[in-house]
Amino acid sequence: MNVALIILACVAWTVFLFFAIAFIARRLSPKLAPYADKGWEVHCRKCGWKHEALSLGIVRIHAYSRGKRILGKCPHCRKFRMLALERTGPRS
Ligand SMILES: [Zn+2]
Repeated sequence: MNVALIILACVAWTVFLFFAIAFIARRLSPKLAPYADKGWEVHCRKCGWKHEALSLGIVRIHAYSRGKRILGKCPHCRKFRMLALERTGPRS
């Protein structure tokens, strides 16, 4: 079997898995929202925009992160950035 074909199959499988996980997460997040921890905030480190993570559809359940970054589009500066996901409230 050709090496290029194997590499192409691996890339296609990775892209498929990425979109499948994104699809499942988007379907599950409203159902999991009642169990989510409140007090997480998305923060743009360039312009200072902040917003509650749960209202943006980001569900965190018993999560612990230190310095977590997520790829997203900042609605204030309208650019794709690595947005900081920070805990602002107490752990529940
Ligand atoms: Zn921004």
